[in-house]
Amino acid sequence: MSAAGVPDAPEMVLARYGELWLKGKNRADFEKILIQNVVRAARPYSPVTVDREQGQLAIVPERRVADVARALEDVFGFSSLSPAWGAAKHPDAIAAVAPAVVARALEAAPADRPIPFRVETRRSDKSFPMLSTELDRHVADRVLEKHGARLRVDLSHPELTLGISVRSWRAYLFAERRPGLGGLPVGTLGPVLCLLSGGIDSPVAAWLAMKRGCRVSFVSFHSPPYLGDASKEKVRRLVAALARFQGPGVLHVVPFTAVQERIRDGAPEAYRTVLYRRAMHRIAGRLAEREGALALVTGECLGQVASQTLENLTCIGAAATLPVLRPVLSFDKQETIALARRIGTYEISILPAPDCCTVFQPVHPVIRGQRARCERFEAGLELEPLLAAAVEGVERIEAE
Ligand code: ATP
Ligand code: MG
Repeated sequence: MSAAGVPDAPEMVLARYGELWLKGKNRADFEKILIQNVVRAARPYSPVTVDREQGQLAIVPERRVADVARALEDVFGFSSLSPAWGAAKHPDAIAAVAPAVVARALEAAPADRPIPFRVETRRSDKSFPMLSTELDRHVADRVLEKHGARLRVDLSHPELTLGISVRSWRAYLFAERRPGLGGLPVGTLGPVLCLLSGGIDSPVAAWLAMKRGCRVSFVSFHSPPYLGDASKEKVRRLVAALARFQGPGVLHVVPFTAVQERIRDGAPEAYRTVLYRRAMHRIAGRLAEREGALALVTGECLGQVASQTLENLTCIGAAATLPVLRPVLSFDKQETIALARRIGTYEISILPAPDCCTVFQPVHPVIRGQRARCERFEAGLELEPLLAAAVEGVERIEAE
């Protein structure tokens, strides 16, 4: 408690989401899933009660509000978040708490000039004895008594806005607005399966698919004994890092050695990488169908490496039975790296552990692969039993 009897920690979090496109059943689904995701994100810290109205959620944790507020910064679907202090639903009670909330915001504000300031009330409880504008003025008076030297009222261009939300059971005050992650709540669009290597791009691609509302599961191809367990552990850690944004993820680890050996022994060297990738897409497609995923996601980027020319992407994509989403297709490497750092996958991705595609890697990979040639080479390989065996041999790991 501070001197004024105001608790040091906020009491709840107000979380806003855009509602422009939300209508009818869409909206009900969106809110239901968003609330489920909030409850899941808060679970390590506290049970929460969630109340919704007018494009906002009021999220009230039983304890550890600051931790819950931080966890909500990793939930897709919010435009902004405000940790808020509570007050009894009475003008004087609200006004008594207000100076302490403003004092916290002023700690971070420049001290060499008065800060343009306003109060902005939103009432969902219309029985409240004051109009919003009356409460604004009442509270502003009390704030200025205390902090008048550092503030000047400016209704049109405030730098510091004390928000007040009068709800049916209590009033809440806030001055901070943290950016939310944006995007759509995970689970509002269909599930997808991400082909996850240990590289930088595919975890970012998975995250971007989550951002658009897809729940993501993962498949990773491994080639023991050419590659050891370090590669597998690295991928497991990537899935665990991404769990921050969607909850625990399922990782399918596919034994890929026999497929790679067959391609090595029976197809022209230059086509190896493209043929590996086609086989990966076939296996991933079967796993996706088995678990109900509607699309594949890859970290492919146009022109980044030899296997990612438009021709080669076309050869690879042609082997897929589901749509292939490539969220980082047009990113520069630096953009992908910046995002990887932000979401916490970069440090894992750069750990040294080879990818299975480096096994029997061609010295001169084909740059402009031809689909007809891929098909001709595959016709002699009898891959089908090996693909089926790879699907059978999948190891399923839950990572969190
Ligand atoms: P990344 O950084 O994701 O590895 P990259 O730029 O290195 O991507 P490639 O290595 O050519 O590109 O891989 C292209 C995509 O193919 C990857 O983003 C991933 O989706 C998929 N992929 C490659 N290797 C594997 C693997 N061993 N297991 C699963 N998917 C893979
Ligand atoms: Mg790679």
